[in-house]
Amino acid sequence: MVRRSHSVLASSGEVFRLIRNGEAVTRADIGRVTGLSRPAVSLRVSELLDHGFVVEHTDGPSTGGRPPVRLGFNAAGGVVLAASLGASRTQIAVCDLAGEPVAAAELTIDVEQGPDTVLTLLMDVWDDLLGQIPAAPIRGVGLGVPATVEFAHGRIQSVRVMASWTGVAIPPLIARRYGVPVFVDNDVNVIAVGEHRAVYHDEVGDMLFVKISTRVGAGVISGGRIQRGALGAAGEIGHIPVRDGDGVLCRCGNVDCLDALVSGTALLAQLVARGRAVDSLADVVALVRAGDAETMALVRRAGRRLGEVVASAVNLLNPAVVVLGGDMADVFEHLVAGVREVVYQRSTALATRNLRITPSKLGPGAGVTGCAAMVLDEILTPEAVDTWLAGNPEPAPLR
Ligand SMILES: [Zn+2]
Repeated sequence: MVRRSHSVLASSGEVFRLIRNGEAVTRADIGRVTGLSRPAVSLRVSELLDHGFVVEHTDGPSTGGRPPVRLGFNAAGGVVLAASLGASRTQIAVCDLAGEPVAAAELTIDVEQGPDTVLTLLMDVWDDLLGQIPAAPIRGVGLGVPATVEFAHGRIQSVRVMASWTGVAIPPLIARRYGVPVFVDNDVNVIAVGEHRAVYHDEVGDMLFVKISTRVGAGVISGGRIQRGALGAAGEIGHIPVRDGDGVLCRCGNVDCLDALVSGTALLAQLVARGRAVDSLADVVALVRAGDAETMALVRRAGRRLGEVVASAVNLLNPAVVVLGGDMADVFEHLVAGVREVVYQRSTALATRNLRITPSKLGPGAGVTGCAAMVLDEILTPEAVDTWLAGNPEPAPLR
């Protein structure tokens, strides 16, 4: 075998990737795949073992002689901190390196209190959760927020929701306490990633996730990856206007945006205007469950209006699955009936041939699952592992 030249010798991060993917799980395999010498393989594997990225298993298949030591990804070799901040409820978790929550909490935080108050509270809850589990190095932080985020800098872009957060770059505020990489994305993107990872990962590369709660938004997964757009504003379908609206002024300043007509807030307002005694999304859901004809008709109309925009998105993106999530998913049948009616009418035959329109399967837990997946995708790349090892010459302390 031709040994690779020195300049392209596989790094420890590359070796980690091979072990994690299962491409090479013994030292001999690693040597064969990378062309590294035995001492070089040994050095890299030792480094990964010392830092908890991989573990050794000695229960390999018996071939008569001594079984080779097999190497595996060490999901317990650290934790990531995840939180999905919502306008109404916030889910907070500490997850292992496979993205499984090992401690979790849910609480109500008013995001409008601003970054200093909210982030301090959030970090205090993470600290509490960390105190409940065996010590493990913190490797990264993933946060979802109900606002447009410029992903590269974790900077809040929107000016109408979370106004006091506008222009704030969140990562440095959190990295100050934990000293690890911090990634921030908008709440719909992280929920879309969570749903995709947990339910569709191997099966579907193209998915449109639409969240209908107090506001309307979408997450676009194309070719297996979340599409954030140039500045993080991809998927903002809530401010696409629909035809034949009621002339409702949207908080963005335009008229008849999807958000102003079909969000939970909009449905609530429509019921109040009809003299109905409702004051929360839960009341709307209860009315639909009780079979209230007026409410069901409003939800169905909302579904058709949503379907108008989803039909265009389907033509543009040709997803395999459209997932509807958010608090309105509880009245899914009525909403989706309206969505289906319009999508199958308006989208091209090819785009809808195998199209599935389905409710979210993960529900509210998708947010933290997605936050953990987002940060793990970033911190477990070969480059990120090499950066970690270069920046932490000693194995990571247990907090
Ligand atoms: Zn608008």
